[in-house]
Amino acid sequence: MPESAVALAKKLQNKEVSSKEIVQELIPRLEEKDREINAYVTILSEQALKKAEEIDSRRAKGEELGPWAGLPIGVKDLLCTEGVRTTCSSKMLENFVPPYDATVVRKIKDAGFIIMGKTNMDEFAMGSSSENSALFTTKNPVDTSRVPGGSSAGAAAAAAAGIPALNLGSDTGGSIRQPAAFCGCVGLKPTYGLVSRYGLIAFASSLDQIGPFAQTVEDCAMLMNVIAGHDPMDGTSLDRPVPDYLKGLEGDLKGVKVGVPKEYFIEGLNSEVRARIEEGIKTLESLGCETVEVSLPHTDYGIATYYFICTAEASSNLARYDGVVYGHRHMDASDIVDMAAKTRAEGFGDEVKRRIMLGTYVLSAGFYDAYYLKAQRVRRLIKQDFDQAFEKVDLIVGPTTPTTAFKFGDKVDDPLSMYLADVFTSSINLAGIGGISVPCGADSQGLPVGMQLICPPLGEEKLLKVAHHFQMAGS
Ligand code: GLN
Repeated sequence: MPESAVALAKKLQNKEVSSKEIVQELIPRLEEKDREINAYVTILSEQALKKAEEIDSRRAKGEELGPWAGLPIGVKDLLCTEGVRTTCSSKMLENFVPPYDATVVRKIKDAGFIIMGKTNMDEFAMGSSSENSALFTTKNPVDTSRVPGGSSAGAAAAAAAGIPALNLGSDTGGSIRQPAAFCGCVGLKPTYGLVSRYGLIAFASSLDQIGPFAQTVEDCAMLMNVIAGHDPMDGTSLDRPVPDYLKGLEGDLKGVKVGVPKEYFIEGLNSEVRARIEEGIKTLESLGCETVEVSLPHTDYGIATYYFICTAEASSNLARYDGVVYGHRHMDASDIVDMAAKTRAEGFGDEVKRRIMLGTYVLSAGFYDAYYLKAQRVRRLIKQDFDQAFEKVDLIVGPTTPTTAFKFGDKVDDPLSMYLADVFTSSINLAGIGGISVPCGADSQGLPVGMQLICPPLGEEKLLKVAHHFQMAGS
């Protein structure tokens, strides 16, 4: 089991190590590893070192710093960082420097975390492999001929490679859990509304949620303690007390009821992934969990529903990139309509254009009822499946992804097969509930398998506890 950031923070608090020492050791390792895996769009070595010195000197003066002050972290390049370029890995925002921090960025800064840089992603978070990034692809640190997953590709690759282990990403249909599974780290998609989306560059606002990556569940719990909670700047933020997730890890798993949905063990599921997950379920049982079969009958409709709703919302969210206020502008247009058209033609990549067109189509008069409205109705049925299952069980378990990491180029020309990478993750976003991917062994080629645990709304305390005990049992 890797040394946790929580353990490293204890050393910082006891002055066994300084933040400067941690960052000084990390920078050359990060830069060297990054040349191999391309996790970062922007590396902030100098700023990070300065910030670490500042934290150390405040600590030396006896100032009350938070328990995690001085720990390094990476931030996905769709979270606004004041004064630091935030690209969304798109040509459209290649030179965009936000004038403010996203709420989560403000929170990690206030807690004394050191931001090491901004991580690569699929353009506007649309994709499952990093191949849709308009900048470059990120490699899977386990096997560089393979994709790291997406869209939080750089965050997952950096977390797995420990450059550094702590990272923030976002998940609209699987973008935290799927790359965490592919790279062999932990990734949590919190309940919708638990973490503020203020300052997150929107893809699909009813699905987007920010969450942590780490090597240990314990570190995910620690980061949730920092980033969760109500934010008046986000109208969808939940105003509820947030438990202490680290404390919540304590105790045992006796009597926890875990549902195994029969619809998640289907034909397209790779046999080795299936075998690892079945072993994982046995481990949960050996830890005292009771497992029962549950049914999520509308699972089959998840992907179609997700791609109608996320593209509809994307077409509306991305309408703002017209060359007028910020981002790329075509400079040689005849009039304003021509400018907007040319700006968008140049600024967006193929997948983004595909989604804008699909989304515009499902929202257009004449098709709205047949596609968008119907998708909203099916979304409700998917949510009801989970509600009914959670009447019987505390959590649900299954694979995070149908396969392990695939090779670059394998799916890039076949959008539908790429979309199927989200088959077990996107329904969780549609239902607005929480899900975590925890490492669950590897296939015969040594590629990581991720086990997904799913919780009812705001069930993260138990979710993290079960995931933590599972991870500890495997080490
Ligand atoms: N892979 C999914 C998509 O392309 C999920 C993306 C995400 O969660 N941001 O839409």
